[in-house]
Formats: sequence, C-alpha cells, structure tokens
Amino acid sequence: MNREGRGATAPAPLSTPAPTPAPETFTGNRALDLEEGLLFEVGRPEVSGVDLPAPKGGADRLGGHGRTAALGLPGLSEPEAMRHYVRLSRMNYGIDSGLFPLGSCTMKHNPRLNEKMARLPGFADIHPLQPVSTVQGALALMAELSRYLLALTGMAAVALPPKAGAHGELTGMMAIKAAHMAAGSSRHVVLVPESAHGTNPATAALIGYEVRAIPARADGTVDPEAVRAALSPEVAALMLTNPNTCGLFERDVVEIAAAVHAAGAYFYCDGANFNAILGKVKVADLGVDAMHINLHKTFSTPHGGGGPGAGPVVLSQALAPFAPVPALVETDGTLTLAEERGDTGAEQALGRMSAFHGQMGMFVRALAWMLSHGADGMRQASEDAVLAANYVRASLMDLLSAPFAERPAMHEALFDDTWLAGTGISTLDVAKALIDEGYHPMTVYFPLVVHGAMLIEPTESESKASLDLFIAALRDLAMAAKAGDTERFLGAPHYAPRRRLDETRAARAPVLRWTAPEPLPDAAE
Ligand SMILES: *Cc1c(COP(=O)(O)O)cnc(C)c1O
Repeated sequence: MNREGRGATAPAPLSTPAPTPAPETFTGNRALDLEEGLLFEVGRPEVSGVDLPAPKGGADRLGGHGRTAALGLPGLSEPEAMRHYVRLSRMNYGIDSGLFPLGSCTMKHNPRLNEKMARLPGFADIHPLQPVSTVQGALALMAELSRYLLALTGMAAVALPPKAGAHGELTGMMAIKAAHMAAGSSRHVVLVPESAHGTNPATAALIGYEVRAIPARADGTVDPEAVRAALSPEVAALMLTNPNTCGLFERDVVEIAAAVHAAGAYFYCDGANFNAILGKVKVADLGVDAMHINLHKTFSTPHGGGGPGAGPVVLSQALAPFAPVPALVETDGTLTLAEERGDTGAEQALGRMSAFHGQMGMFVRALAWMLSHGADGMRQASEDAVLAANYVRASLMDLLSAPFAERPAMHEALFDDTWLAGTGISTLDVAKALIDEGYHPMTVYFPLVVHGAMLIEPTESESKASLDLFIAALRDLAMAAKAGDTERFLGAPHYAPRRRLDETRAARAPVLRWTAPEPLPDAAE
C-alpha cells in the first residue's frame, strides 16, 4: 500500500543522521506498523472458524423461506480473526499507550484492580432478570456506591440507571420538568451559558424547552447579574457546569443558585468536571438541585470511542420524588429493585430511563476506585489533577496564549490560537502535529467561547517526567510554528498509519457498508 510522504519530510531525530527518504516496502508494512485490510478483504466467505456437520435431513420448518444463497459474511480462522483485531488495535491510541490530553474527557489511568473486580463471576456473570434473592451482593454494591456518591456530593438521592453523562443530564432535566408539572407550572425556558458542553442545550431542547444563552464575562465565568437579568417566571432551570468548560471555578455559584431559586427555577449542574473538586466541595452546599456524575471520567473506566459510560444523577430533596425507576429499596435488610412507578412510595417517579438498573460493570469499577483511594486519596487525586493542569499551563504560557490566565485553572489548561496569528497554522494543524509526536491530540475548538481553543486535561495519572516530556513536545511545536516550519504542521500527521483525513466528509457521508470490488460468486443480499 502506498503511503507517500512518510520519512522524506520528517524532522531529524537528534541522535541519528538525517534520514534518507524511506523506501516503500513490498507489503506496505513498516516494521511493527502493519497494514491491515478490512474484514471483508482479509476473510473469505467460504472459510469458517468452526466446522459443523451438515444436518442429517429432517423436515424444513421454515416453510420454504430458508436462505438459498450464501450470507456473504467474511469468514476467518481464529488466528486470522485475532491478527485482524490486534493489528487494528495497534493503530489506535489509548491511555495505556501514553498521555491522553483530551480536555473535558478526564482520560485517567484505569487501575487493573478495578478490571479484576468487575470480572468477578458474581458481578460479571449475573443477569438483570435473575430473582433479586440471588443477586443480593450486586445490589449491596449498588447501595454502597449510592452511599459514596451521596457522601461525596451531600445530595439527598441518587439514580443509578443513566448510561452516560448526557443520559444523566436528560434524567435530571426530566425530573426538573416533572417537578414543575406537578406544581402546575408550564415554564418553558432553560438558561445555558455560552461555554456549555453541547449536550446541555441539546438535552433541554430534546425535552421541549426553549434554550436561552447566557454570555460569559471577560474573566470566563458567569455573571450573577446576567443570570438575574435572564430570569423570569418562564424560566424552568439554569444548566451550569462547575468548574466550567474554561477550566475555571464559578466563584459566584452560590449567589447564582440563590437567584435561580428565588425565581422559582431549579439549578442543574453539569458534573462532568467533578474530578477537579472531588472531596473538596460538596455540591449540595452550592445550591445544586440535580447533577450527573460521569463515573467513567471521575472514577475511571476505559471510555472513549463511543462507550461505555455511566451517568448516575444526584438529586436534592425537592427532586428526589421524581427519580426514575428501577430504584434500590431496602426493607428489613433485604434489597429489592422497585420496578414500577409508585413502588418506591413516590407516585411521581419518572418511570424508566433504560431497560434495567444501569451499567453494573462500571458500578463495580467506580466503587473499587473509591475504596482503593479512600477519602484522603480521592481528595489528593483531585488536587493532583488541578496541580498537573496548572503546571502544564504555567510551563507553556510564555509560548502559547492562555485566556483568563489571571486566575488559576482547575483540572484543565485552556489555550487559544492568538499565538498562531500570522503563522498560517491552525489549531487543527497543531493537533495533527501532536499525533506525530506520539500523543493523542488535545480537545480542539471547545469551548466555543474561545477562538481556536485547545483544552488540555492531563489528569492526576501522569508523573512529572511524563508531563515534562509532553510540555517539551508542545514547546518544540510552538517554536517550530513561530519559526515558519509550516510543512511540519500542514502535512501532519506524517507518521500515523493514515494521513490527514477528511473529517467532515467522514462524519457527514460515512461509508458504512462494504461493497465488493467485483461481484462475489456466493454473496447474497
Ligand atoms: C463528557 C461531558 C458531558 C457528556 O458526558 P457523556 O458521558 O459523554 O455523555 C457533558 N458535559 C461535559 C462538560 C462533559 O465533559
């Protein structure tokens, strides 16, 4: 396979002579970097990993509707299947291969202890339809996790079922809507700051609310005056992220919450950034009515690439009666799941947000993380995450431009693209060049309130040596950009298995179905 451009334009490593242009290889492989075709190209329809004896006669019970042609699925032997997926996995980047600076996503190390606990047969091999008398241990774990989440947030109730942060947002906002409806109110507006994650306005709009934006003030936080000016008897809730997506703690959050409550509205807090305040702040003290917690971010579970997630939502006393089912109920030392509205004693419960009780494997991982850290360890994790982000920011501030730099950052460091002015290089080009340096790119162009944003969240997992190497790589890139080495950026990535992709076309016109280059003799469909 031809992957032109590699080698010829590479910056010379310091320890070896300048490379001559690399020759093409016969196989398209480059040593350990192995080319791999699609499953359909690697396999053949006539091959199977298992040999089943042909059925011995017997009546056809399909009434003549049986398939007459082959399925056309690729067939692979076990070693072929293994190699296919291992080769693909080696083209990917994960937290197990290196620092993963993707801001807002909290890509921290996932301790193997958590994985071991989640694989215990008593958790991994049970079925949600088993009688509850046979799964008391699993329910006890859910009850213990609930107690921890309530202790960490100071809130009154928690609903475990939501399957992601966005799903938790939806659950919390539906509880708020249900509470308004129960009170006979038809408020139809939700206030969302401009810096919010896209899931906030999407959630409000999905359940029929009109979204009104609150502008940020010059220091990157929300002004209580702006909230007061937007509040009215039409407003059902304010959705606020704290610490916010600019990496700043909303200092006026208590005043904002009081204004929201005085206007008869609820305060929804986006808790995706909980890792910055874990063990330091009880969100109930901030006046929060509902908040989702991304277990996969704060309490570590391998995530990204579409899953898995778990987004339990904590609720205030006022919203607790509106929590969804199924919910854990303890009677005389026996745990059960209240499956229907009213089973919890709360007639106003939302009903179901998902078929079952939530993501069991992630509950186990989250509790294992909490128990192995303890109260002091969790507090230290958030302190280290904040320290690491501020170290990254302080180490790059002379070369990159950082908005809102007069205040310390929380657990992420935000840069804009002012420092790239006149270089012909964009934020996207810097992200692509970071791939060549062996890093996953940082989050780019989010939050929207910052031009050409680069959001870096190192998390508490990284050693100082690892942070220093990452900082040095970014400093080298920044100096190269300023020195006019545009080729290093505009052609990047030079060293990835694939070069610059048309990401817009990939998102807008995805090719989801393989078509055979020439008709296969056996391919049905
Ligand atoms: C990650 C994130 C979400 C959404 O969480 P998912 O688990 O990805 O659905 C919402 N808000 C913020 C600020 C986030 O970082």
